[in-house]
Amino acid sequence: MEKRSKGSIFIVSAPSGAGKTTLCKKIVRMVDNIRPSISFTTRQPRAGEIPGEDYYFVSEDEFRSMIGRGDFIEWAQVHGNLYGTSRRKLEELIDAGYDMLLDIDTQGARQIRQAFSNAVYIFILPPSMTELKHRLERRMSNSVEDMNRRMLRAVDEIKEYKMYDYVIVNDMIEASLKKLEAVIIAERLRSSKISSQWIENI
Ligand code: 5GP
Repeated sequence: MEKRSKGSIFIVSAPSGAGKTTLCKKIVRMVDNIRPSISFTTRQPRAGEIPGEDYYFVSEDEFRSMIGRGDFIEWAQVHGNLYGTSRRKLEELIDAGYDMLLDIDTQGARQIRQAFSNAVYIFILPPSMTELKHRLERRMSNSVEDMNRRMLRAVDEIKEYKMYDYVIVNDMIEASLKKLEAVIIAERLRSSKISSQWIENI
């Protein structure tokens, strides 16, 4: 009988428009026992976003008091808004044996690396900068200024890809999902993750 111990942390970063949110939403439905980490943010909800499901939407004052209390395992300012991961929620779910998927930016990924040395880092790339621009233009919810800011930031973020263990070029979503699933499954097969009673009793 195999008993899984604590869950693993999967960090997924990408420049805005690489298709990371869609990939993350689909993979948690496709693979069992993995949960999305729901971040806190000061950003306004976009059309269709559900509080408590997509994000916990909070005021800047609330966010700053959470920082003061040390509630975040990591937090960062992205595109002018604050985003953070709750330490308590993350640790509770990992302790309960769930693998956790964190859709966070490169600044957050670096902070997590200090707290959890064995997290798995996955970077999602767009097929090209031209395609990234097209994808951002198709997003009606972003203003022109916001789009330009995201393009500039994308360049800086892409330069950080070497900090990650795996890189997935997101051209065809189905193929990218299979690659992401493969990374999760491989991680679960690590000898350090399996505790089999009968082996321990030899
Ligand atoms: P969006 O506003 O498009 O939902 O997210 C913008 C960026 O913020 C994305 O790159 C996303 O990964 C990042 N992000 C979302 N939640 C967090 C978080 O809790 N911490 C950090 N550091 N980045 C986050």
